[in-house]
Amino acid sequence: MLTGIHFLLTYACNFECDHCFLYCGPKAKGTFTLSQIRNVLGELTCIGTIKQVCFEGGEPFLYYPLMREGIKIAHDMGFKTAIETNSYWATSDEDAELWLRPLQEVGLSILEISDDSFHHEEEDNPAKRALAAAKRLDITVSSICINKPTEEIDKQRVKGEPIYVGEPKLRGRGIEKLINGLPRKSWEEFTECPLEDLKDPERIHLDSYGNVHLCQGLSMGNMWETPLSELIEDYSAETHPICGALVKGGPALLAKEYNVQHEDKYVDACHFCSMICLALIERFPQYLTPRQVYGLE
Ligand code: SF4
Ligand code: SF4
Repeated sequence: MLTGIHFLLTYACNFECDHCFLYCGPKAKGTFTLSQIRNVLGELTCIGTIKQVCFEGGEPFLYYPLMREGIKIAHDMGFKTAIETNSYWATSDEDAELWLRPLQEVGLSILEISDDSFHHEEEDNPAKRALAAAKRLDITVSSICINKPTEEIDKQRVKGEPIYVGEPKLRGRGIEKLINGLPRKSWEEFTECPLEDLKDPERIHLDSYGNVHLCQGLSMGNMWETPLSELIEDYSAETHPICGALVKGGPALLAKEYNVQHEDKYVDACHFCSMICLALIERFPQYLTPRQVYGLE
């Protein structure tokens, strides 16, 4: 059951992390208008099952007034609210509180902070300052820590061949930057989507172009063309041209169904899936979108 809505407030970010599955960075453009946020939040009441609204990006603090107003409206409507951030703004203990207090005052429930070696050095770490400031302000806070991908010999495996062990979802820039040297497996082994419940999603991500993401760059439809509540009501993975195959047989079936030429081996299911989606992007532009999350202009 769908309980969480995540606003990708912008694809712009002051960072350009190697593992970013949305290809966010300083050159990315665009955000929601306040009236679009109101419109989406209004739709949530028609959906009826939504409990939590999260603002993320990109880096949502780059659009601070809009994010704050979004939190306020969502909170006043009775939703639990959350923000995900790289905490670049926590330049001192005092400043961290300066940025957080106005959010706490309008009802921010949860702050999720990226705190790992992709984002920050150990020394002089703004994530640690943001975490401490949130605790002082009684905001529920948690850290998101993503490890760098590694190769590991799994002793349980019959042949003991190297397997990929790592947390970044290999989609977006992660494929360009992180896969070199990682062990690969035959494409035929990737017969399921390991990370998303495409049949019955618990959360979806919305961008300012109207895309309703089931996974990064895999859209249910466009909410500026069809009201969000209607899109969700009518969604069925079976009839979705990409999700149908992914649910039945993972990226391996998706490649077979559309006869996509591909390599023999991939690091994991998401790596394979991403390459097949990229190959199909011109054929299904309304479902494999926006192009920017595939690293295209
Ligand atoms: S992973 Fe987060 S902090 Fe890094 S570029 Fe992407 S949105 Fe920005
Ligand atoms: S297999 Fe595809 S749809 Fe599933 S999580 Fe990976 S990239 Fe997303």
